[in-house]
Amino acid sequence: MALIVQKFGGSSVADAERVMNVARIVTDTYRDGNDVVVVVSAQGDTTDDLINKAFEINEKPSKRELDMLMTSGEQISISLLAMAIHKLGCPAVSLLGWQAGFNTSSAYGQARIKSIKADRLRSEIDRHNIVIVAGFQGLNKYDDLTTLGRGGSDTSAVAIAAALRADRCQIFTDVEGVFTADPRKVDNAKKLKEITYDEMLELATLGAQVLNNRSVEMAKKYNVEIEVLSSLKRVPGTVVKEVAKMEKMLVRGVTKDTDVARISVTKIPNTPGVAFKMFSVLAKHKINVDIILQSVGRDQTKDITFTVSKGNAEEAVNCVKSSFDIDDGDIICDTNVAKISIVGAGMESHPGTASKMFEALYERDINIEMIATSEIKISVLIDLEAADRAVSAIHKAFFPAE
Ligand code: ASP
Ligand code: MG
Repeated sequence: MALIVQKFGGSSVADAERVMNVARIVTDTYRDGNDVVVVVSAQGDTTDDLINKAFEINEKPSKRELDMLMTSGEQISISLLAMAIHKLGCPAVSLLGWQAGFNTSSAYGQARIKSIKADRLRSEIDRHNIVIVAGFQGLNKYDDLTTLGRGGSDTSAVAIAAALRADRCQIFTDVEGVFTADPRKVDNAKKLKEITYDEMLELATLGAQVLNNRSVEMAKKYNVEIEVLSSLKRVPGTVVKEVAKMEKMLVRGVTKDTDVARISVTKIPNTPGVAFKMFSVLAKHKINVDIILQSVGRDQTKDITFTVSKGNAEEAVNCVKSSFDIDDGDIICDTNVAKISIVGAGMESHPGTASKMFEALYERDINIEMIATSEIKISVLIDLEAADRAVSAIHKAFFPAE
């Protein structure tokens, strides 16, 4: 007998039929002789709908009240799921985040889990109840409800798995697992059996929206193995873990991120402290900068190019303009770009990975505007229009059809 945590996202519990489907998965697990704790998100687009309702009334809603409102979404799904499980003849009890012992920091809308007082969870498990916990929420030191940031239910599930030392943490979603590329766009994309935490973090940041980043960080910290799998198709998914012996694979995946803007600033003075000044202004405005490129200085000037998310582009341009004396023509913002990356822990020890990627692009006549590398990833910035072709070409180079 094992203790299994199962998390179901909003699309998996979107309507009555889906809720019954989840109840069947949960009760099958329970009837196999396991203890089961279930974490659920709000149904379908409920959270978005709640936020819209708030903004209809007040365009600057109080963060406390917004959390009070948003937590109601998960309250609906936990109670419905409990009823569905009762209908299938198994005992179940639903708990809100605070009832399950979630203590968080006080930052409304982006609270961090501080601790889980798991007594109630344990006593319900001892009573052989299937315990259903509202994801994405907790209680702060003022006894006020908080939420953990969008997509936070994954983190709730991993936190419970860590607190209870669960044998397994399964995250059910509407995809079958983690793939080598987006299976809807790339022929021959393969489902991965396993992936490391670091690789998963890179893939998540790069736009493979399967698991919430924070949940992966927490899983790494507490060594919780996560299995990502489909709630609609009962087939094995992808296991995220720290792997000593792992399927030898150089590159684990190819991703596309289109939420990028490139900002080029030309003719800035070629003197010390310029980069410092530019990026500290951006940091002060909490603008996250990704790839940075500085040209070799010539004469009295040099150029700096960097990327930010599209939503930050305009503010970034204004920041730079306000702190440097530059002509309008000397700062260019291009939003028609995409960042294509390959990720894999194996590439560190394999020379030639980058050249293979660049060759695939060259063969398709795709120009590289910027390049960035880390131990487990290589990213290139290219024209947005070529993004999908680039992903397919690179994927083909690293994962030739059998
Ligand atoms: N319902 C919340 C959201 O939509 C939490 C989650 O889905 O994990 O962000
Ligand atoms: Mg959701």
